[in-house]
Amino acid sequence: MKAAVLTERGADGVTWSDYPDPVRKPGESVMRVLSSSINRVDLYMRDSGVGITHSLPQVMGVEGAGEIVETEPGSGLEVGQKVILYAGAFCGSCRYCMAGNQPLCEKVQIMGEHRDGGFADYIAMPSRNFFPLVDDADMQAAGALMTGHLTAWRMLFGKQTLMPGESVLIVGIGGGVAVACLQLAKMIGARVFVTSSSDEKIARAVAMGAEGGVNYTKDNVAKAILDMSGGGVDMVIDSVGDASWGDSLKSLRRGGRLVTCGATTGSHPSADIQRMFIRQLTVYGSTGGDVGEFRLLIDVFNQGLIKPVIDKTFRMPDIRDALDRLYKGEQFGKVSVVA
Ligand SMILES: [Zn+2]
Repeated sequence: MKAAVLTERGADGVTWSDYPDPVRKPGESVMRVLSSSINRVDLYMRDSGVGITHSLPQVMGVEGAGEIVETEPGSGLEVGQKVILYAGAFCGSCRYCMAGNQPLCEKVQIMGEHRDGGFADYIAMPSRNFFPLVDDADMQAAGALMTGHLTAWRMLFGKQTLMPGESVLIVGIGGGVAVACLQLAKMIGARVFVTSSSDEKIARAVAMGAEGGVNYTKDNVAKAILDMSGGGVDMVIDSVGDASWGDSLKSLRRGGRLVTCGATTGSHPSADIQRMFIRQLTVYGSTGGDVGEFRLLIDVFNQGLIKPVIDKTFRMPDIRDALDRLYKGEQFGKVSVVA
């Protein structure tokens, strides 16, 4: 088969090349990949990979959707069935898996990080990682659903659930998780505010239902958000880190919560502890989502209530260009790759 193989770090280290067909082990099934999408972690794998246990060459791609081509009796799957992958091959027996919290699995093997990924003609994964889609599912959209929307789902609904009528500030609209947060927050009837360095991205967010936005290169974010929301928002979604953290804390109403899923500008902002206890703020981290949350997300997708925004579509052999599109940070929504 062909696959996007990372042989050395850097943009030139990724090639669409021959790679051995996956061999199905007991308990696994094989999927023909129809679509996937680019995520931040793909760039991290390409350029650094520090802290992720793996060896090169590595087939990239942390999500995928397609159809089953090989399975075994009792798997519950059928050849030809349309499916979407849950990216983490979890052990099923550690304390976190037993509690249903697969994103914290101590032995998890994530496709495209610790085992062969989805930028390929075929992929083998444990059968329990394949989730059926409806027969007429939009397979390109499905391939862009898991990482962004599942991360967004857990951030909004996982711990201190965002309620209809509450308000949320999404920092840095445009990325896959941020746009997914906007869609899911609107779906439940929450008020949404956004920030960006691009007036165009703010305008797109408003067209999708955001109540307002702040261009952080021109205006004071916290002041503008306090004005627009009427005293501060209930929740802030921040994956930016150092550059936005101070404003994010100041944009919260008393008793509000800040959820982080990334730190693209750095991991060590001022904690502003005095503000945290006086205003009784909650700060917590989130990454991925568990199987139960994934089932709910797929149900919402199968009902047609949510569809990932596709920024641009590339063919798999043009994987370098697709990675470059995300690297430049100009996207709004998901950079899609299709077979
Ligand atoms: Zn486990």
